[in-house]
Amino acid sequence: LDTLTLGMRLAALAIDTQRLNSDLRHRSEFDLLTNIHNRFSLYKRLDFLIDQSQRHGGIFGLIYIDLDKFKPINDRFGHHIGDLFLQEVSRRMKQQLRGEDMLARLGGDEFAALVSDVHNRADVEEIVRRIEGCFHAPFVLEGYLLRGSASIGSALYPEDGTRKSTLLSVADSAMYAAKNIKRNPSS
Ligand code: GH3
Ligand code: MG
Repeated sequence: LDTLTLGMRLAALAIDTQRLNSDLRHRSEFDLLTNIHNRFSLYKRLDFLIDQSQRHGGIFGLIYIDLDKFKPINDRFGHHIGDLFLQEVSRRMKQQLRGEDMLARLGGDEFAALVSDVHNRADVEEIVRRIEGCFHAPFVLEGYLLRGSASIGSALYPEDGTRKSTLLSVADSAMYAAKNIKRNPSS
């Protein structure tokens, strides 16, 4: 084995290791099905935004999104179409956000978005309406025509809370309240 060959093999090994590392990193931060961020990334970004806003007096919103009646889509059309639905929903929602915002799949049919660079609740509400708009057009998946909707709740830093756990629970409760209104419109 001459020095040149050895050098080349070492270089190739270094490149492989680097690729493996960035692959592992991607897997730890992104959701495999939808390729948007995962819960872990969202929590990390939430910590970062709280820290930054505390120092510089920023405002940001946390938005919780849970698809309505997603189980029946799986049951009627199969898990594969359900997966495609989750992918298309993710793609549409991501399009409604800015580059510095983060969209994440928390698991199942539950998503969350962190929106910075807002001034007040009305700004966050406008983004919520844009996300709702993602469900206006039907979904065409492998020849099936599907309709969907989502229940959405939000929390505003610092008005609704300054701690991670508070913000998460405020947004989650608001989402459930929206869901319950749809389930029992009369109550
Ligand atoms: P609700 O309107 O009350 O939100 O009810 P729902 O039918 O949307 O049901 P729920 O939110 O309780 O459950 C979400 C369902 O999503 C349950 C599970 O079978 C399905 N699910 C979870 N992960 C995946 C996935 O990766 N792919 C597919 N196709 N389905 C999934
Ligand atoms: Mg649901």
